[in-house]
Amino acid sequence: MKHLKQPDPKIAYEPLATSQDAPKSFISEFVKALLNNKGYQGVVVPRAKPSLEEHIRYLGKLWAVGIVLMVTVTWGMVRLEIFDRPGTAVLAYLLIIVVLSLMDSFVTSAIFSLISVACLDYFFMVPLYSFDISSTQDIVALVTFVATSLVITTLVRRARRFGETQHEQAHLLDLTPDAILVLDVDRVITYWNRGAEKLFGWKRDEAIGKVAHVLLKTVYPAPLGEILEASGRAGRWEGQLIQTTRDGAKVFVESKWILRRDFKGNSIGALESNTDITARKRAEEALRESQAAYLSEAQRLSHTGSFGWDSTTGELTWSEETFRLFEYDNDIKPTLDLAFQRIHPEDRDWVRAALDRAIAHKVPFDIEHRLRTPDGSTKTLHVVGSPSTDETGQIKLVGAVMDVTPRKIAYDALEKSELRYRHLFKFMPISLWKLDVRRLMEMFDELKATGVSDFPSYLADHSDFFQRAMDVIVAEEVNEATVRMFGASSQAELLGSVGRFFKQRPDTMERILESRFNDDPLFEEKSQLVTLDGRLIDVLLTAARTEFGVTLAGLVELTDLVRTQETLERLQIEFAHAARVSTLGELTASIAHELNQPLGAIATNCEAGLRWLDRPEPDLHEVNAAIRRSLADAQRSADIIARIRAMAARRVPERVLMSPHDVILEALQFLRHEVEWRGVTVSHIFSPEVPQVLADRTLLHQVIVNLAVNAMQAMAQIGTVERRITVRTSCLDGGALRCSVEDSGPGIATDHLPRLFESFFSTKQGGMGMGLSICHSIIEAHGGRIGVDNGSIHGGARFFFTLPAADRTLQ
Ligand code: ADP
Repeated sequence: MKHLKQPDPKIAYEPLATSQDAPKSFISEFVKALLNNKGYQGVVVPRAKPSLEEHIRYLGKLWAVGIVLMVTVTWGMVRLEIFDRPGTAVLAYLLIIVVLSLMDSFVTSAIFSLISVACLDYFFMVPLYSFDISSTQDIVALVTFVATSLVITTLVRRARRFGETQHEQAHLLDLTPDAILVLDVDRVITYWNRGAEKLFGWKRDEAIGKVAHVLLKTVYPAPLGEILEASGRAGRWEGQLIQTTRDGAKVFVESKWILRRDFKGNSIGALESNTDITARKRAEEALRESQAAYLSEAQRLSHTGSFGWDSTTGELTWSEETFRLFEYDNDIKPTLDLAFQRIHPEDRDWVRAALDRAIAHKVPFDIEHRLRTPDGSTKTLHVVGSPSTDETGQIKLVGAVMDVTPRKIAYDALEKSELRYRHLFKFMPISLWKLDVRRLMEMFDELKATGVSDFPSYLADHSDFFQRAMDVIVAEEVNEATVRMFGASSQAELLGSVGRFFKQRPDTMERILESRFNDDPLFEEKSQLVTLDGRLIDVLLTAARTEFGVTLAGLVELTDLVRTQETLERLQIEFAHAARVSTLGELTASIAHELNQPLGAIATNCEAGLRWLDRPEPDLHEVNAAIRRSLADAQRSADIIARIRAMAARRVPERVLMSPHDVILEALQFLRHEVEWRGVTVSHIFSPEVPQVLADRTLLHQVIVNLAVNAMQAMAQIGTVERRITVRTSCLDGGALRCSVEDSGPGIATDHLPRLFESFFSTKQGGMGMGLSICHSIIEAHGGRIGVDNGSIHGGARFFFTLPAADRTLQ
């Protein structure tokens, strides 16, 4: 403040008034500034303006007093006869004029000046009691009087006006709610408005004479010396201060200082206005706190921290979440070294290089690096930052750091699964196709929009649609197994429309399209496709719908499988045939006996018939009866032979609808003699609910015969006295047939149970061990199941099999 320095160009500068009119100038300027700042421009400070009537009344009184005073003074001096001392009269008149000018306008004073001149001339100038002026000296004296009185009047008026203005302005300053202080050069308070009284609590008398910042315990935003120097340069200063009120409360004020200078430009003090911004500050603080709390919460929730780094000072600042991400306590001072300690050793060098490059070239950076936490686990952080240069040329880096570990794990897993999928696709030993069906779906959408819902009938009427639909299913990618399966030399040969592979089986393509039209998620069918080299291959075709108009199709070549299956079936027929023939071999005696009986009966009947014929009077009626009986027996024999021939024949199985009970009875009929011969009681318990089955009659005979023969052999083996077999049927929950053959034999040893249906398992001397194995394959081929336990009601073994009801049998 002592040296007048160049004003700071950044601060608005207004020249200050000189010391003579400083008080008025700075107060009025301040008041003006104050009013302008507050938007009070145009507000007139109220000043009571008297009415004309009041004014005339006041003038009347004043003039009356003036005239009384003039008359009294003149009369007094005439009585005292002090004509030789007109100076006394002059002084007296001047006094009156001064008094009057103190009380009213210049006009009154001027009029009374003229009256005084007239009185002086008349009463106190020679010739006395005459208005004549005898000498030039008198004229000069009177003119001088008038001039003096007018000068004095003017001065008095000015002084009076100044006083009034001062008073008005002081009053004006009391109108503002701001605290206005006038300080001298030592910052001692010389003025303290009502706003200051209200804001700070001290009365004007208490405050005046005190050093402002001592009284108010002012907290400045910078050292006071620096502020004074800055304000000395600029002539003004603005800033926020914290003041302490009389009762000890802290108030935030927006303080504006205007410097007062003397005519040499030296500071003589300042005028300060302090606006209370405590409420605003608190609100801002609360907002900042809540915003900070929100930000901090948002950072915590999104696992995103922020940081700032000053390249010059090396100072690093971290948000709370950044501390958490780097797993440091937030009471330590963050440094780059601490950050790098956490960065994975393998990533440190390139992260440092990336940072250096960003700072050197002032370019943003965006990196992902690993972090090693104190417990040894690894996190992945995504860090973005942007360097900026401030006005002093210092580089500052601000950025955000995000924990992307879960995303990274998910991404890696996805990448791995994608890779796995690609590997699978490429190297799976079955043929895989990636088909683009977007165009087909568009066609279907258009079709559905026109109201088509029965696709097969639409297709029947629109063969062109079928051709177009087939053409728009495009193979985008096929794997190596496909290239091999279709005899292609490269993948490219197979890409494009797939219609050409369905030439021999357009029906399959029709069903594929229908399945697609119905939005079925999966299609599966055994069919045949034409390869590039013209072969027809049996395939199991599976098509799975995925998103985005892509279909994944898989083909399993069945050509070899079909052939193997066919061979197997042939072999099974052979085996079954062999087994039947072998059973027949075992039953030879029984069969012979069986045949013997009708043959014997035929012979007997024929003999009887002959005898009736040989009579002198042949009894033709008896002959007829004998021949009929023979015929019936011959028919029985033929039936037996037919059954045996059926058992012995080798033919392809054929399935027909039949009653299981008929089949069982037929089979038992076959064994009738064997049963009798072995002394076995065979009974059957048939459930009336059992369904019809779709089966090959001979094969089912073979199963029942096999189970019954085994039962009889088992009972014979141990010489069981009571030999009983029960054949029982029942209907299972799902409607299937269950048939069991129970015996009174020894049952099955527990350790034999799991192996009983294996080929070549036998406990019999000379046993082949094929019977049950063939029963097993016959029943499975019919879609049923065969099993065994020792649950016979006769105490022996219980063999059972199931067969699906005819209406559920897969054809
Ligand atoms: P094989 O009759 O030639 O032995 P199978 O396959 O018909 O061949 O029978 C396998 C074995 O099952 C028999 O050797 C016998 O041990 C056992 N087995 C079959 N049926 C019965 C039964 N009802 N009771 C006891 N064991 C039986």
